[in-house]
Amino acid sequence: MKVSRLKTNIVILGATGSIGRQTIEVAQALADRFRIYGLSAHNQGARLAEQIRRLSPAKAVVTNPEHYREVLTMTPGWPGELLSGPEGLLELVTDPAVDVVVSAMVGAAGIRPTLAALQAGKKVALANKETLVAAGEIIMAELAQDNQDHTVRLIPVDSEHSAIFQCLQAVQPAALKEVHLTASGGPFRQFTIEQMRTISPEAALAHPTWRMGGKITIDSATLMNKGLEVIEAHWLFGLPYDRIQVVIHPQSIVHSLIELVDGCLLAQLGPADMRLPIQYALTFPERKENPFSRLDLYHLSALEFYPPDFTRFPCLELAYAAGKAGGALPAVLNAANEEAVRAFLAGGIGFLEIPRLVERVMNAYARENNRKLDLETILAVDAWARQLARQLLSG
Ligand code: MG
Repeated sequence: MKVSRLKTNIVILGATGSIGRQTIEVAQALADRFRIYGLSAHNQGARLAEQIRRLSPAKAVVTNPEHYREVLTMTPGWPGELLSGPEGLLELVTDPAVDVVVSAMVGAAGIRPTLAALQAGKKVALANKETLVAAGEIIMAELAQDNQDHTVRLIPVDSEHSAIFQCLQAVQPAALKEVHLTASGGPFRQFTIEQMRTISPEAALAHPTWRMGGKITIDSATLMNKGLEVIEAHWLFGLPYDRIQVVIHPQSIVHSLIELVDGCLLAQLGPADMRLPIQYALTFPERKENPFSRLDLYHLSALEFYPPDFTRFPCLELAYAAGKAGGALPAVLNAANEEAVRAFLAGGIGFLEIPRLVERVMNAYARENNRKLDLETILAVDAWARQLARQLLSG
């Protein structure tokens, strides 16, 4: 398939998920500049097929081979190429025609293709949490080989990191004292421990301000999401953990702040619309007009800020502990949490048992060994933590 080189060719990993679909909206709004060159999905074959028919990418990948036939039969006449499996992803992200890879897959499966994209010299717009949480050290070592500021190639999509990234454009690195990641606090921020015992998956899935996928919505309710973002911020901005703060801000208008050595605070404000940080990641360092939502300052209610409660939300404490310990412990935290959230959504455990399970798996790992940190080790530790979590859940 012949592809125009006048536009930036983007690939969207995890195209059928929330970030993936919103990235498509952004790319279509900026169609004079971006071409959707490739898409990938795991389980949502029918939705991927619909996207292929509508967008006609040069390539697409269905990582779960079980859905390969389905996608193929649903896309008659499409001149592009359908690949399958994790190898298909690697082929897609290293394709010479690709300029930008939007890494929006959910889970540890996103680590390898994201690393491969960076190794192939691509610019990566990063929305996959696991990449930096579990493999931050490896990713940063890869980027350190560039003879330039790493932020030129790894641009955060997450609203908080995007906010910090945007604020940092205005200051010299030495001027930065610390960063403040804002958190909505989730739907249970005012619940007592007693009330938290009986939280249902349905209640936890109703996020007050953001529209997101199921896993991240539960993580927002436990504050694990913010904990994972703290670890990501550590790697992205090269900051020690005592210079990364979390502040509860229920309105989700201030997307994060940076505090400077002279006492000034810089914040980035905007509507709770992921399309804005997605667009910034794609157009950086430029800015482009768009048809998306706008913030009406005159209709803002009061903006509140208060400290997080580590007692009611122990996931945040666990994430700081894992981050500070370093090594593969953040990968353990992340994998155990994924299993715990899965069990919670299936009705197998209560809301308060999520951090308990994560802590048990983390404790078990601390007693294990300390291998050299490479990608295979990370993925092996990830698999080990999942297996132990499932074992503890069934025991
Ligand atoms: Mg976020």
